[in-house]
Amino acid sequence: MGCMYCEKNNSTRDKALMRITELKSSVLYLCRNQAHPGHCVLALKEHIPSLQECTEQQKADVSADLGMMTGLIRKIAGSSCLAVTAAVNRDTADHLHYHILPQYAGEDDPLSGEDPDPVFPKEEECAEMAEMFRVLIQQEIQKTAGQESKSAE
Ligand SMILES: [Zn+2]
Repeated sequence: MGCMYCEKNNSTRDKALMRITELKSSVLYLCRNQAHPGHCVLALKEHIPSLQECTEQQKADVSADLGMMTGLIRKIAGSSCLAVTAAVNRDTADHLHYHILPQYAGEDDPLSGEDPDPVFPKEEECAEMAEMFRVLIQQEIQKTAGQESKSAE
């Protein structure tokens, strides 16, 4: 068995995740189990097992990707969202990836509480969510680029 984040076609991955887009250093997926609404997975583009083995540049890039995504999810979820947790390598240990897990008011900590029953939205609903993320990510990237060019002036 190859690595599910590296193989072009991998049925285990495709059953669990829907590809959203590529970010700077990572690939973003929507988790098909939406028991935590907004649950995404961010996997490093390269096959590196852990942050310790990343170069400083890779570390900086992956934390920028994570920061953008956790901020974006907080923005979408609004005030009902208490926190967005990034849990590293929950299901496979050999390829660095993060589960981005929003926690809503009245919910247990997604990492210490029991896993809620799985919720699988329909394929079209997943596709709609993935598209919404793509649009919002594009806006975030443009905004950041605008700020950078302004501060360079
Ligand atoms: Zn891999």
